Amino acid sequence: MRVIVTGGAGFIGSAVCRHLIKDTEAEVINIDKLTYAGNLNSLRSVNGDSRYRFVKADICDERAIEQIFKEMRPDAVLHLAAESHVDRSITGSRSFIETNIHGTYTMLESARRYWSGLTGATKDTFRFLHVSTDEVYGSLGPEGLFSETTPYDPSSPYSASKASSDHLAIAWHRTYGLPVIVSNCSNNYGPFQFPEKLIPLMILNALDGKPLPVYGNGSNVRDWLHVEDHAKALDLILRKGRPGETYNVGGRNERSNLEVVRAICRVLDDVNPRGGPHERYVTYVTDRPGHDHRYAIDASKLENELGWRARETFVSGISKTVQWYLENEWWWSPLRNHVYAGERIGLINDTDSVSRISAGKSGVACGP
Ligand code: NAD
Repeated sequence: MRVIVTGGAGFIGSAVCRHLIKDTEAEVINIDKLTYAGNLNSLRSVNGDSRYRFVKADICDERAIEQIFKEMRPDAVLHLAAESHVDRSITGSRSFIETNIHGTYTMLESARRYWSGLTGATKDTFRFLHVSTDEVYGSLGPEGLFSETTPYDPSSPYSASKASSDHLAIAWHRTYGLPVIVSNCSNNYGPFQFPEKLIPLMILNALDGKPLPVYGNGSNVRDWLHVEDHAKALDLILRKGRPGETYNVGGRNERSNLEVVRAICRVLDDVNPRGGPHERYVTYVTDRPGHDHRYAIDASKLENELGWRARETFVSGISKTVQWYLENEWWWSPLRNHVYAGERIGLINDTDSVSRISAGKSGVACGP
């Protein structure tokens, strides 16, 4: 199987590329624009493999994407490229609208044109997996879980742009018959995650003896899934999922943000006690505007229909993740020093911060 992976230099995309190369026979074509979040260092273990190839391209660039389809003749597309950070979407929503909506449209249209020209088994087995988030469902109260039939109710520019792209993906199936599948996953964590996201930011700030900024009172709940469990789920959905269907992916690991931060501090107190106890660095800061209170996923469709199970529990996954950041400073220190040092973004009166942070600094993360 020859698979186009978009956003393969990002956190989840790189885990998908590593999984496909190490654990399957698939050929991988990684298409990535290399924004501040794209990092070819995350692909060091597969770079040089004859089944792996990187193409630098913007998914909004219709001519480039059409050309890639023509030349590469893929059997499947795993579409992950996106702007992914909620705080950045609050401060600068434009790139979210462009990449997440227009970019997905370009991928769907290019795939449709290419797929229309296929015949026989190649046409029947072609798949387009659109990778999305549970944030499209909005916020839950204290009880209940998101299922595949939960109505969409996004709160942030990020989740609204992902919701739009999900609707486009399903429409391309219903209208044109393109064999599209959608997956909606809970919060991921694990190795190679850009240190603006909660877990790596807290690990690296705690190591530096810097404040651990907890939004509001820390009671917001997320359902955490280890990124390698997600990568395997995506591979399975691509091979066995039914076109036109949505699959929710989640780890049954609900934790409040404060519980997550405390868990990180406990692991660090154990394995790196210098500067501890680390919980003394916890600082409560102004809440994120529009902050959804709780997300929780019912993944039973994926478990029962396709036989997927998350392997990591939060306890096992978080301690492996802390250990990974301790051992892989070569990966994160250029990002902390040159791309993003941990400053607050996503407050409404700070409209220029994303452009300031990105300007002149992006690109450092993109080196091979
Ligand atoms: P990420 O920000 O780490 O990576 C995104 C990648 O997309 C980067 O390599 C970036 O360079 C690339 N990219 C951005 N704009 C592009 C463009 N116009 N053209 C080509 N490439 C472009 O994101 P992630 O956390 O790995 O998320 C990947 C996907 O999974 C996203 O679609 C996201 O919505 C979804 N998702 C993420 C999570 C999570 O917890 N991180 C959870 C559920 C779903």
